Amino acid sequence: MKNMHRKRRSSWIDITFSIAIIALTVSAIYLISQTTKNEASSLPEKNKASTSVVIDTIDSHYPGIKIITETSNDTYIPFAIQYPQSLHSPFNEAISKYITTAKQNYLTTMAENKKNGSKFTGELNISFETLSHYSGNYSFVLVNSSSTGGANGTTDIRSFHLNPETGETFTIADLFGRDPKNLEQLSTLAREAIYNDPLLADHVFPEEVHLQTEPIWANFDNFAITDESLILYFDEYELAAGAAGPPIIVIPVSDINSLLSEKFQLVVEDTDENTITKDPVKEENPATPPKDTESSTNQVNNDSDTTEDETEGSTEEVDDGIKQIALTFDDGPDPKVTIQILETLNKYDAKATFFMLGSRVEYYPEIAKKVQEAGHELGNHTWNHPDLTKANVEKVRSEINETSSIIENVTGQKVTAFRPPYGAVNKTVRSQTNLPVVLWDVDTLDWKHRDPDKLLAHVKGATKDGSIILMHDIHQSTADGLDAVLAYLQSEGYTFVKVSELQ
Ligand code: ZN
Repeated sequence: MKNMHRKRRSSWIDITFSIAIIALTVSAIYLISQTTKNEASSLPEKNKASTSVVIDTIDSHYPGIKIITETSNDTYIPFAIQYPQSLHSPFNEAISKYITTAKQNYLTTMAENKKNGSKFTGELNISFETLSHYSGNYSFVLVNSSSTGGANGTTDIRSFHLNPETGETFTIADLFGRDPKNLEQLSTLAREAIYNDPLLADHVFPEEVHLQTEPIWANFDNFAITDESLILYFDEYELAAGAAGPPIIVIPVSDINSLLSEKFQLVVEDTDENTITKDPVKEENPATPPKDTESSTNQVNNDSDTTEDETEGSTEEVDDGIKQIALTFDDGPDPKVTIQILETLNKYDAKATFFMLGSRVEYYPEIAKKVQEAGHELGNHTWNHPDLTKANVEKVRSEINETSSIIENVTGQKVTAFRPPYGAVNKTVRSQTNLPVVLWDVDTLDWKHRDPDKLLAHVKGATKDGSIILMHDIHQSTADGLDAVLAYLQSEGYTFVKVSELQ
């Protein structure tokens, strides 16, 4: 009995020891593998030890260019990546850096999702296109489509440029001889091309188009040059709503040949009548409509000054002890920003006025409906955001009427105010609508600074009883800064009213 007892005890001790040793060994192996994993994290193929990542290198049709393919068949986190490599390390390093970052972002996000219990199978697909130019220069356009959860994936387009013979890379600035005048022309041509593109024209956000095509070289970073055209790639969701993928703009070489630096200029013999580059010497571009966008956007500042008298008139001070303020939001609706703004307004039980664009209501009818359901005032801000003082009567009428129609159809509620884009208004514009024309006296400049903290600073400095505050429900920074603005105004004793309720 005693013996048995002792025996049993000693075997328990043995088992406990064995378990402890096994546990220690396992954790030691785990720790070592973790460390090596971290050390090797710059080597992408070691990222997923358990799944097979296949890396393959083949020659391309282009001299000096190889194609690297990396694929993983992981059940939850698969990827297929293809990119070019040359004989020149600066180019190769730039590409590798982009690929590694894209892959790391994808793997990290997916690992987090998995940890949080998501069963969603991700997708990362990077492929590329090679576009050649007669000068021996190549543009490599990498298309990165990824999806890490839910239905909406994203597509990112990035371009890299190389002369495979010399190893020289080139930028958009090199292409245009680093000449600021050429950059201005490029900006104008890009705007023109965007507004002339039937797939984009009706769907673009004019203020965004303006920003993304400002004459700054970096705006045109992603491009490809061929013998026929200059192709510009813009970021997805930036220029237009609901666009299928990133906007791609094509400008014929005939329109830019004279602007290109010498080594990229096409010189074509003067034989064919139809030859586009017959006279590449100098061809001034005529003034183009997109210039209007530029000057009118600049007016926003001035307008807030010039319109002050107008709004003052309608808001004569009545000292009844109640301080009123009208919050107004332009250029929406937006599926994310407008919703967040509605939530914040609801938190303060504040009513506001939303001056919507017809083109965006068409895209986001359910968001417009939510604005109405939340009890806010519906305003008309035209269909496409043009400067109406530069449009003819028919255009003014259709911009206003079609917008009112769609807002009323979608929400079942009447539009009760009109705000002309850029605050630009004249007799012709006024004569085309019975709606009261509403401008503003406090401009938060939210479209310019995009800074949640500056929103409150602008409001603090300029708001008084009866003020109309101008904001835009298309900028995330505005949604983020609104809570502080409402908290401040409430603490100052203001009541939030719809613009047509201002007394
Ligand atoms: Zn606007």
